[in-house]
Formats: sequence, structure tokens, C-alpha cells
Amino acid sequence: MEDLREKFRAIPAIDRLIASAAEEPCLAGVPRELLVRVIRQATDAARNQLRQEQETDISPAGILRLAQDMLAHIEQPSLRRVINATGVVLHTNLGRAPLSRRARERITAVMEGYSNLEYDVASGERGSRYAHIADRICGLIGAEGAIVVNNNAAAVLLVLSALASGREVIVSRGELVEIGGSFRVPDVLRQSGARLVEVGTTNKTHLYDYERAIGPDTAAILKVHTSNYRIVGFTSQPEDEGLVELASRNGIPVIEDLGSGTLLPIEAKGWREPAVSERLAAGMSVVTFSGDKLFGGSQAGMIAGQKEYIDKMRKHPLLRAIRIDKLSLAALEGTLLDYSLGNPKEDIPVQYMLHISPEELAERAEGLARELQKLGPDWQAELIRLNSQAGGGSLPAVDLVGHGVALTHREIGASSLERRLRIREIPVVVRVQEAKIILDVRCLRDSDTADILAALRDIGEGAGA
Ligand SMILES: *Cc1c(COP(=O)(O)O)cnc(C)c1O
Repeated sequence: MEDLREKFRAIPAIDRLIASAAEEPCLAGVPRELLVRVIRQATDAARNQLRQEQETDISPAGILRLAQDMLAHIEQPSLRRVINATGVVLHTNLGRAPLSRRARERITAVMEGYSNLEYDVASGERGSRYAHIADRICGLIGAEGAIVVNNNAAAVLLVLSALASGREVIVSRGELVEIGGSFRVPDVLRQSGARLVEVGTTNKTHLYDYERAIGPDTAAILKVHTSNYRIVGFTSQPEDEGLVELASRNGIPVIEDLGSGTLLPIEAKGWREPAVSERLAAGMSVVTFSGDKLFGGSQAGMIAGQKEYIDKMRKHPLLRAIRIDKLSLAALEGTLLDYSLGNPKEDIPVQYMLHISPEELAERAEGLARELQKLGPDWQAELIRLNSQAGGGSLPAVDLVGHGVALTHREIGASSLERRLRIREIPVVVRVQEAKIILDVRCLRDSDTADILAALRDIGEGAGA
């Protein structure tokens, strides 16, 4: 005890440390208040280390080194870029869709100053934030009206609140979906004030199931994309035509939560994801989909469909609470421009990554393996074929053929490699499989290779230490 107190007394005084900091290049320019804070944190940390009987350098230089670590920690933004070597294009934990060049340009161009977010420059009067993109969306998907909110979960909530609160909504038991982050169809329905009427069974729902459930209190039929599972085998759902005709005969809308929703139809291994325009053409009255899944833009929930329904949502008080912000809106307009002007399969990263040919992926994997092998004889790089998933609740259970590299180090185990890659300033996220780390090239950009090599070189050099 006495011994510890003695050691505490030996820690230099704050004033003295501040004076010495002026001679440390890394601390010299730091504002005084921040400097005092990191030096206090450093002396606290030193005391803690002494208490735990850890070896601690309590010379002024030693404490100031600790203070530099504290400063680096404060300066390091928490939300930052990571390298996605998992091959999962829409990785919800990794921020879903990377933005296109146009989307990023729109953000910088608009955010630097003020904007006409809710200002109609032609009339000089108050405008609507939705006006900036509604026509572009309608034009691309063939809808009468559109509105955009914070995300698709909010979109579904708004549609149900505006069209079905206090009344019944019919849903097939095969479509009572739960997606990640606790979005569950029955719960969202309850939250909107609508009453769920379940029809059919898990595997089969017939048109007559819907027909029998329709009553005076029915407000809508809701269809939900089974984004993250597939029911296979003895299954059926009624044809769109019959369902739409039934709804229209009863004067109610068919609402479809498309989940991911894509503007271009996507075909992969026995699966065809229809475009949003096809769903509207099939007769859906209102559809909703995410802005940051297959669409490839920022977080948003798109609602499109017949004008009479969109108008009801526009007037609903919930809209204000879930409105989209200007950053997302600017990015969405950029992405919409990619679709209408450019070449979406080249310009929109999500579309691009989903459409790279297996041959090109194989070639890239070879290139990466060659570079990795140059790290030295401690490393073993092996080309492998991979099955990756689109992810993020899209293209359920569809395997995309991919290519990558399986990597091992003579001394460092795979789980340790995985961790060391993850905790870096630019984290590299990889999978581990059969005691190897797997680098899937699908989601890597050219510039990522250099960062991955630098990371592995550092890790390898630290191995003997
Ligand atoms: C992803 C998804 C949602 C939620 O969309 P967010 O944009 O993440 O809010 C809702 N419904 C379905 C079917 C989905 O796949």
C-alpha cells in the first residue's frame, strides 16, 4: 500500500507534463483544454496500471506517450470505411449499398451550403422535399405517384397507417416475414392500428382463401416479399391477375412490400427477381422498397403506386416523423440519375458487383493470389471457388458463383488473422473457413488490394515479436 502511494507520488505533476508536451511534435499544436484532458486520462491510466502491478513508464516521456495514444483514440472517427472481403454485396452490418460516384457528388454539391430542399425556386414559395425525386422515380418505374421516407420499414408502417388503420389487412401465412433488426410483419401491422387477418397455410394459399376473408372491414390485401427465406416443394400462391381482380372487384388496394426492390430485373441460378415496374404493371396498387438494397442508393423507403393512395400518405401526420433527410435525398437523386442517364450496371456499385462475370472474378482472384504470395514464404495463398449471397434480404437462398483466395500463415492461426485484420484502422472483414481466411474478391475495389497487402505485411512482421 505504502509502496503504491510512493509510486503514485512519482508520477509527474500535470503542469510539468503540460510544459513538456510543448516539446513533443505530436502534442505541440493541441489546444490546451484537450491537452489537459488527455494528460489527465494518461495519468489516470498510469495509476491504474500501477494498481494492477503492470510495468509502467511514469517518466514524463512515458506518460506523454500514453497521452498521445489517448489523443489518437479521440481523433479516430468511430464510423469509418472498412474493406469488405466477405463477398456479401448487401451486408447490413457493413452499411449495405456503397454509393455511386454521382450519388457522392450530389451529397458534396448540395451539403456545402444551403439548398432548395423545401423551397420552390420558380415561385419563391414553400416547396416539397418529395418533389425533387418523385417524378424521376415515377418515370423509371411507371407509377402515378411516389413518396420517399426514412427506410422501407417506415414506408410499410406509413402505407398501412394511411390506408388501413382501424381496419383489416389480409396476409398469407406464407408471407408473415421477420427480417433482421426485429421488423416483423404482424408487429408492424399492429403498430399501424390495422388488424391482421391471416389466410392460407405456410406452404399454400389459394385465391379462395383471400376471397373468403374479405368482409366489410377489409382495407387491403398485403403481399410481402419473402426476402430471406424460400418455401420450396408443395407450394402455391395465387396468380397476380386473380388477386388483383379480386381486390379491384371489392374496391380495395393490393399493397406489396417488395423488400429489396430492384429497378432492373435480376437473374441468377434458377431465380428471377422482377423489376419494380413489373410489379406495378402486374396491378399492385402500392409498392414499397428499400433505397439501400438492390436499388443501390442511400437508406430510404420508396413508396410508389396509384395517386389516390399516395395522396393519402402525403397528408398523413406520420409522414413528418419518418421523413427522409437531405443527405439521403441528394444521394438518391444521384442514384436515380445513374439509372436514367448512365449505365447502371457499371455506375451503381451494387449492380456492378452483382453482375461481374465469374471469369472476371476468377481473373481478379488470380491477381490477388499472386500479390499475396509475394508476401513471402510464411504465407500460403490458394485460389478457391466460392458461393456468395447477395445478402441484405435480397435474392433469398440464391448462390452467386464467386472466386477468392484462401490464405494461411505458417505461425498465425486463422482466427487470430481474422481478428488482427478486423481491429486495424481500416478494418478488413474476412470469413474463416477450414482454418483459413477467405478473401472473396467480389466486393473489393482495386484500391483495396494495397490496403490488404499492407495489413497482412504488418501482421506478418509482428509474428515473431
Ligand atoms: C429489408 C426489408 C424491409 C425493411 O427495409 P429497411 O429499408 O431496412 O427498413 C422490409 N420488408 C422486407 C420484406 C425487407 O426485405
